[in-house]
Amino acid sequence: MKSFYVYLLKCADGSYYGGHTDDIEARMQQHHASDVGYTSTRKPLELVWQGEFETREGAIAFEQQIKGWSRAKKEALIAGDWTRVQELAKSNAKPASFEPFSEAQNKLVEEDARLRQAQPERLGATAEADLINRILHGDAAAQRRAIAKAITLLESTRADHRVQADELLTALLPQTGKAFRLGISGVPGVGKSTFIEVLGLYLIAQGHRVAVLTIDPSSTVSGGSILGDKTRMEHLSVHERAYIRPSPSSGTLGGVAEKTREAMLVCEAAGYDVVIVETVGVGQSETAVANMTDMFVLMQLPNAGDDLQAIKKGVMELADLVIINKADIDADAAMRAEAQITSAMRLFGLVNNAMGGDQAANYDKLWRPRVVQLSALHNKGVDVFWDAVTQFRTIQTSNGQLAARRRHQSLSWMWERIDAGLKQAFRRDPAVSAMLPALMAQVENGQLPASTAARNLLAAQSGCARAAIK
Ligand code: GDP
Repeated sequence: MKSFYVYLLKCADGSYYGGHTDDIEARMQQHHASDVGYTSTRKPLELVWQGEFETREGAIAFEQQIKGWSRAKKEALIAGDWTRVQELAKSNAKPASFEPFSEAQNKLVEEDARLRQAQPERLGATAEADLINRILHGDAAAQRRAIAKAITLLESTRADHRVQADELLTALLPQTGKAFRLGISGVPGVGKSTFIEVLGLYLIAQGHRVAVLTIDPSSTVSGGSILGDKTRMEHLSVHERAYIRPSPSSGTLGGVAEKTREAMLVCEAAGYDVVIVETVGVGQSETAVANMTDMFVLMQLPNAGDDLQAIKKGVMELADLVIINKADIDADAAMRAEAQITSAMRLFGLVNNAMGGDQAANYDKLWRPRVVQLSALHNKGVDVFWDAVTQFRTIQTSNGQLAARRRHQSLSWMWERIDAGLKQAFRRDPAVSAMLPALMAQVENGQLPASTAARNLLAAQSGCARAAIK
């Protein structure tokens, strides 16, 4: 569940500016950087208050409310003096029909106050232990709520939430790793959600518990969503043995992928033994998904074989298995696609060539990427697909590749996040941010070599930041 925020900025001229957002950190950066709008001429700005809401509508309603407030009332809000806020609301109330604080709004204020006041307690050991306990041992409903709460915490941009999220993950880590992690990618319309729905229900019928997480790169660019509509996976989404969570909806792809990876760990700790991570075939999201899963599956349409150019070789290399979906539409085309993709994979050296070639001694010990035909809509071929997955798992477990892949992934995630963290710290460094605009302009205009600019900026990074990094 995503949080929405209402915030108040104190501007240099003493005025207040109120707004709402679902990503407070990004919004603050926009305010600081922008030279349009009310706040652009009133810098520096100080974030003096923020409240968290469960819905966008709630946040907007509250934002509208506080925009009409007197200065005294805003200051009471900033001070956290809710009694005073309410008093001022009453004293300003017009006696007739005007109701300054409707019941719903009062609830919002109370909820907001509770969230803010609950903060120290939320960080306390008891609340955290309770959350962990509910994730590990809660009944279905309690567990679901606890997972949602934990994932909200992971996705929060607040520093104190991050500390708590790290503690939570560390505590859950020993209970993770037992699930099979399946990555599924394909262009919009190929049939991912139709397939995941039938696969999920098939697995549940076999006694599994299935979590479905998504990485939607469109949301990181535009705030929009290719994958996000709610009607997807209608039956699976309401099944008590399934947990479906849409993509975190803001941040860089790296950030979104990190949150998804962490959400995966929470689901595993809760006992979901098949975790499916879905993405669309756009940008680098396939690599991110392949890097967090045990097996990466690429979905293709039957006509894909006709135009192999359309399949990026890089993505093909990631695939442990290719599905030709919608085989029901044109059986011949599906056969052709299977043959063509198989031979293309041979050409790329992906089939019969994994881990050192086609040596007879290793024949049973190697997984060779393969192609299967399927009709998700008619629920045909799901069993063949799952048989292949089971074979993959057996082979890769016994030859040690699965464990090696996970070890490699954990380390590469660590370095990825270190890189991202260092870059963020670097950009925030006062000496760097002072020099950055001019140097960027010089590099853009060809007045300064990029490498010289980089060296100068690195040299400028303050001694204190460098010491912290060391
Ligand atoms: P996604 O965007 O990849 O999640 O694709 P969807 O699962 O939403 O499917 C897109 C459309 O293709 C929908 O209208 C589905 O009913 C249809 N579809 C999915 N799988 C099949 C299939 O195997 N055969 C046929 N004929 N249609 C399918």
